[in-house]
Amino acid sequence: MSAQPILDLVFRNALLRSATAPVDIGVSGGRIAAIEPRLGCEAVEVDVGGRLVLPGFVDSHIHLDKACLLGRCGHDHGSLNEAIRAVSALKREFTVEDVYARGASVIERAIAHGTTRMRTHVEIDPRIGLRSFEAIKALKRNYAWALDLSLCVFPQEGLTNDPGSEELLIQALRDGGQVIGGCPYTDSNPTAHLERIFDLAQEFDVDVDLHLDFDLDPSWWHLEDVCRQTERRDYGGRVAIGYATKLSALPPQRLKTAAERLARAGVAVTVLPSTDLYLMGRGATHNAPRGLTPAHKLVESGVLCSIATNNVLNPFTPFGDASLLRMANFYANVAHAAVGEFDTCLDLVTELPARLMNLKDYGIAVGNPADLIVLDTRDSRFAIAELPDILMGFRNGRQVFERHRPVLFFP
Ligand SMILES: [Zn+2]
Repeated sequence: MSAQPILDLVFRNALLRSATAPVDIGVSGGRIAAIEPRLGCEAVEVDVGGRLVLPGFVDSHIHLDKACLLGRCGHDHGSLNEAIRAVSALKREFTVEDVYARGASVIERAIAHGTTRMRTHVEIDPRIGLRSFEAIKALKRNYAWALDLSLCVFPQEGLTNDPGSEELLIQALRDGGQVIGGCPYTDSNPTAHLERIFDLAQEFDVDVDLHLDFDLDPSWWHLEDVCRQTERRDYGGRVAIGYATKLSALPPQRLKTAAERLARAGVAVTVLPSTDLYLMGRGATHNAPRGLTPAHKLVESGVLCSIATNNVLNPFTPFGDASLLRMANFYANVAHAAVGEFDTCLDLVTELPARLMNLKDYGIAVGNPADLIVLDTRDSRFAIAELPDILMGFRNGRQVFERHRPVLFFP
C-alpha cells in the first residue's frame, strides 16, 4: 500500500462529470493527490456542497492583440475584408503597452469566467512587427498565476504577398512562438502559403492552427489541401482549422464525407460562433443563414472539435465577454443542439479543446495540477442550459477568484 501524501487542501463534496456521487479532491503541493469519497485528513477544507467541479474552460482560439478596439474604429464593418482593413490601419499605431492593456482586460474577464487554458493568435507582419508578440509574452508571464497562455503566431494579411512577414514569423518562432497559424484566404497564393506554413511547422516542430474557408460557398475550399499537407507530413493530431464555415453550407451526406476526411487526416475544427454569426450571411435580406458549422455533429463523426471566443469587441465581432460557458450556451441554442447533446457542448469548451491543444496535464485526475472551477449547479447538463454562476476558481491549488451569489432584498 502506498503512503498517502500529506494534503494541504481538500475540496469536499465535489461533483465530477464522470461520477454519480460527490467526492473529495485532495491537493498536495499544487497537484491533485487523491480523489475519493470522504478523505480523512486535516488539510484546509473548501466545501463545494455537491456542486459541479470542472478543470476550467479551454479557449483554443482567441485574439488578445486586437481585442477591445471598438472605441477607436467605429462599429460599422459589415464584411470580413472591411474588418481586416480596419484593424490593419489601426495596428501600425499599436504599442506594446496598448496591446498589453487591452489583452489584460480580456484575460482578467476570462479568468473570472473560469478559463484556465488559452491559445491566443498573435499577428506578425511588417506593420506590427513583434510589438504585439512582446506584449502577449509579457501577459503570459504575468498571468501564469491564473491561466496557461499559449502563443500561436500567424500572418493575418498573407505570407507570400507580404514581404518581411516570413522573417518576422521565424524570429517569433525562435523566441517563444509555440504554434504556427496561417490565413490562406488573404494570400494571393493560398497553396504556397499553406506549403510554407507547414514547412515552418516541421522545421520548428510546432503544431499548426489555421484560419480557413471563411465563407458559405462550398464549391471550392482549402480543406482538402490542409488534409493532404497533414498526411504528407505525418502531422495528424497536430493541425486545427478555425471557422470552416463552408461546412455549414453542406447537405448531410456531403458533410458526412467531409467529416470522414477530416477525421482520417487528424485535422481538428474550431467553431467560433460569435464571429461566424456576425460576419456570415450578411447579404441576406431575410432568412439569413447561420453560417455556423455543426461542431457537435462533426464530433459524432469522429472529428476533434472545439468552440472558442475568437474576437472580443472589435470590427470582426463587436461582442464578447470571454465567457466560454456563455459561448457554448449560445452555440447550443443557435446550432439546434438537443438536450441530449448538451454534454457534448460542454465537452466542446473543456475536454475537446484540451485535446486539440495537446495538453497532457489537463483534467481532474491524480497527478495533474489542481486547476478547477466550481459551478453553481448539481448537473452538468444544466451548465449549458442555465448558465450558472461560476463561484470560484483555483490554479495549482491556489484560489484565483471568487464570485458572490447575488442577494435579493425581499420587502
Ligand atoms: Zn481567429
